[in-house]
Amino acid sequence: MRPFTDTISLDEARRLLTAAARPLDRIETLPLPALGGRVLAEDVVAAGDVPPFTRAMMDGYALRAEDTEGATREEPRTLALVGQVFTGEVLHGEVGAGQCVEVATGAPLPGGATAVVMVEDTALAGDRHVQVLAAVRTGQNVGPAGADIARGTVVLQRGDLLLPARVGALAAVGRAEAAVWAKPRVAIVSTGNEVVAPGQALGPGQIHDVNRHTLSTIVEAHGGLAVPLDVASDTLEALAAAADLAVACDLVVFSGGSSVGNRDLVMDVLRARGTVAFHGIAMRPGKPTAFGTIDGVPVFAMPGNPTSCLTNAYVLLVPFLRTLAHLPPHVPHVVTAPLARRVVSGVGRHQFYTVRIVDGVAEPAFKASGDISSMAHADGYIEIASEVAALDAWTAVDVVLF
Ligand code: AMP
Ligand code: MG
Repeated sequence: MRPFTDTISLDEARRLLTAAARPLDRIETLPLPALGGRVLAEDVVAAGDVPPFTRAMMDGYALRAEDTEGATREEPRTLALVGQVFTGEVLHGEVGAGQCVEVATGAPLPGGATAVVMVEDTALAGDRHVQVLAAVRTGQNVGPAGADIARGTVVLQRGDLLLPARVGALAAVGRAEAAVWAKPRVAIVSTGNEVVAPGQALGPGQIHDVNRHTLSTIVEAHGGLAVPLDVASDTLEALAAAADLAVACDLVVFSGGSSVGNRDLVMDVLRARGTVAFHGIAMRPGKPTAFGTIDGVPVFAMPGNPTSCLTNAYVLLVPFLRTLAHLPPHVPHVVTAPLARRVVSGVGRHQFYTVRIVDGVAEPAFKASGDISSMAHADGYIEIASEVAALDAWTAVDVVLF
């Protein structure tokens, strides 16, 4: 055994990670259907007006506003109906004084018209005349060309997250594709002689690989491209070979082998091949966590215990990955709830303690760091600062939801 001689605080670990995280400079051009959730790597300038033409914004009649002055239900104005224009059509000819043209919402406003009276404020008088029952102002119910987005304006900027409405703005200006930041490729390497893929029968002493799948899922949820490699056994050769493959990616996450046992060799590979920024964080679960680089590629060495590994993925990996991906910081939902039972926490380690929300009360869900059900059966976690020894029952706690 090679015990930890020192740990750093969680705050210090976060500072070191923030300093080390560099947004990727790789760009890819993708078609519109693939752009949701991506981050723009270009300013998008509108090549044309949106809408491209001045249009009716109501079903009704296009007319000259002055012809409706003073119109009421009691004193309607009668106009001659001289035509109709539906969407996708253009009316040739002008709306003259005393005339109107039937228009559909979205149809180009006929020349000469300055307003649209909505159909509810009109009555047909025979099939050639319309009674206008309310006055309209110039411009009323009319959408001018470029009112939404004017040609030549920057409609979206580099760095904008492509939420649904922004994908819509790209579509509105006619863009079929856009340049976005490439997703960071994240190599995921489970280590351990005992670890086998789900679907395979377990031999004596073997367990299924959980971390590959929790890590892949969280990486994909936060803008990364998971690149799982084969499980590496606990030998320097196997781990070095995995590292060789992994550094083709933008970020590497090992799980297992980061602790202090004689078979915990990930740290040896990290020390021999790269740099170590820290090893050991004063947190629970998740103490045996390291960060460094191999061939300049950032490397996390996560503990093998599934809950420790995934907690650290939430707390440390997600912010780092999102920075690489140019994504804004993740803001989790937090709910405040009374704690159902007293929870004891060791002083000196910042604790993440999983809870389930049942009828508005936070029930402890944490079993052990090795138990994935500590998280799978929880809704979120509370944080217990390192100087706090215990939280009494019914203390109001902030639950960070997964
Ligand atoms: P280690 O960090 O390698 O000392 O592993 C700590 C514990 O986590 C041991 O019980 C391992 O068997 C277990 N473990 C390691 N890797 C995985 C994995 N990928 N999936 C599930 N459990 C794991
Ligand atoms: Mg191991």
